[in-house]
Amino acid sequence: MKILFLDQSGKPGGAELCLIDIAKPYQDTCLVGLFADGSFRSLLEENHIPVQILTTQAIQVRKESSLITGLGSIGQLLPLIVKVAQLARKYDCIYANTQKALVVGAIASFLSRRPLVYHLHDILSSEHFSQTNRRIAVTAANRFASLVIANSQASKIAFLEAGGRADITEIVYNGFNPKNYQTDKFAVNQIREKLELNGKFVVGHFSRLAPWKGQHILLEALAQCPEQVTAILVGDALFGEQDYVQQLHRLVTTLKLENRVKFLGFRSDIPQLMTACDLVAHTSTAPEPFGRVIVEAMLCGKPVVAAASGGAMELIEHGINGFLATPGKPQELAQVITACLNNSHETAAIANRGQTVASQRFDVDNINKQIAQLLSRLGTKA
Ligand code: UDP
Repeated sequence: MKILFLDQSGKPGGAELCLIDIAKPYQDTCLVGLFADGSFRSLLEENHIPVQILTTQAIQVRKESSLITGLGSIGQLLPLIVKVAQLARKYDCIYANTQKALVVGAIASFLSRRPLVYHLHDILSSEHFSQTNRRIAVTAANRFASLVIANSQASKIAFLEAGGRADITEIVYNGFNPKNYQTDKFAVNQIREKLELNGKFVVGHFSRLAPWKGQHILLEALAQCPEQVTAILVGDALFGEQDYVQQLHRLVTTLKLENRVKFLGFRSDIPQLMTACDLVAHTSTAPEPFGRVIVEAMLCGKPVVAAASGGAMELIEHGINGFLATPGKPQELAQVITACLNNSHETAAIANRGQTVASQRFDVDNINKQIAQLLSRLGTKA
């Protein structure tokens, strides 16, 4: 099948990293069209996936935008829509991986008479999106998409609650290659040495720096943990959240955590860094649509504590294959971290179970088969 994938981002967030795994089996015939240039393009190229930057003009719609700005930006999208519609005629279907890609892909699918697939990586709730944005996304999906792939039960439920059609919606989790998470001991030791982590109990946080990702919750928890507990914050402000970055640095100073927190910025060696940790913390204060980092930590054989909400609830059974803590409650998080520090045997057994379950449940080959099967139902030529 020839697929035209569309994604609005030039930077590799979770949805984009997921798209690399989905597009790979189609690399000989597909094209990924991006609405911005950046390091995501390089990642696709490294993976030998054909990519084209379809526009370099910034698209102004923000998550919280109003109807006027929302509609105004559709006008601004017209040249891009025409380009996508022309391109789409060479493909069997359009696969929109983000919300702006959905809007563009919806009209282009109508013009080019190609079926539209929408991969929903978001929770369409008021915590994440304005009512206008939710309405535009749901209307575009309901009217134009033949298939909506929700990345979790939580994303599906929010879509339906926002008025989305149940009859076209299927759940497919993100896929991972467990082999990518088997790391070389030497490389991991080097990281611990270089970052001066030896002798410390290291809690890792792997996420872009954004208020709802809750890095501040981890810092507040850390201040309530024994002195040997330290944290590495891996990730950057991908979408301009510079105020929050400064806020985090100020919090480190206020809480006197200068010697216990390291900001590592965006990194590509996630498996090695995760393996260098004693515990991985996920602290989102709003429901997480899926939570790739949770599965990645499990695949690295590391214990993980996640905020009990959204997709995280589908990934972790508390005390069985990981830990859950109430979102936005640093004290509770501190208790879990301290319990992991004090019960290393029990914690390791839980992490082992997490690794076994995750490598079966999220195996990329199985996940890609599920997607291929759903796509085969679109009734397009193979
Ligand atoms: N990630 C990365 N480098 C970083 C921080 C994060 O490659 O410095 C990856 C992380 O390993 C995960 C993805 O970014 O695969 C984030 O996905 P997640 O579902 O956790 O959150 P999202 O970005 O989709 O909100």
